[in-house]
Amino acid sequence: MLIVQKYGGSSLADADRIGRAAHRVAELVNDGHKLVVVVSAQGDTTDLLLEKVPQITAAPPPRELDAYLASGEQMSAALMAMALEKLGIPAVSLTGWQAGLMTDSIHGDARVRGLRGDRIRQELHEGNTVVVAGFQGVDAAGDITTLGRGGSDTTAVALAAFLGADRCMIYTDVDGVYDKDPRKFPDAVRFERIGYEPMLVLAREGAQVLHDRCVELGQRYQVPIQVLSSFRPGEGTMVMD
Ligand code: ADP
Ligand code: ASP
Ligand code: MG
Repeated sequence: MLIVQKYGGSSLADADRIGRAAHRVAELVNDGHKLVVVVSAQGDTTDLLLEKVPQITAAPPPRELDAYLASGEQMSAALMAMALEKLGIPAVSLTGWQAGLMTDSIHGDARVRGLRGDRIRQELHEGNTVVVAGFQGVDAAGDITTLGRGGSDTTAVALAAFLGADRCMIYTDVDGVYDKDPRKFPDAVRFERIGYEPMLVLAREGAQVLHDRCVELGQRYQVPIQVLSSFRPGEGTMVMD
């Protein structure tokens, strides 16, 4: 099977957590599966990067802001590839542009347009696990773009759609999608399954658990999206028709 897994920032917050995620990937690779792993920036990295900008300028050029913010995911991807290599899993990290994730030119809120997937396919063919930096792509001019806050989810679903993956698994810090934020509301109820439409409503109302554009893409390309916890066992929630 070709499996796309995405790990969010809290799932990669320190070396120990990167190691745990790498072990999970390694198990599937050792079972004979091909893996594309999408990573977010570690922990609060993106917020910390943003906090520094006003020290330089109150009006950063959007092109430069994207080049800067994309670095958080680039670091995670390289660290994850190192962690996999340490476990004996051949791995290669790719930035969004190296992976060929094409977007429009709306810096800070770019939409995915397509995938020039030759590089990823070649790496998989050669037996490498491919670690892709989430949240970023490249526009027609060759400039780095970012997909909006929470956009690594969209990277994962886009790659699953365009590569024809068999599974798309989003690992996060809660064990699925709830009817409301389970961190704020202890009586929140988890869905075992939820359709794309109700999931879109939740995402657009601000449920961070999935980026709304990843749900749109999932619906358009009919990619079932499994949301599950990095920290607790379980099947999580399937987002599908
Ligand atoms: P990641 O870093 O893995 O992308 P996010 O912080 O973006 O994780 O999303 C997960 C968070 O979404 C959870 O910690 C939870 O507080 C929040 N959340 C808000 N609404 C919901 C919901 N309806 N179901 C599940 N989680 C939700
Ligand atoms: N690192 C980015 C953010 O914090 C993207 C993501 O985590 O999905 O918004
Ligand atoms: Mg997120």
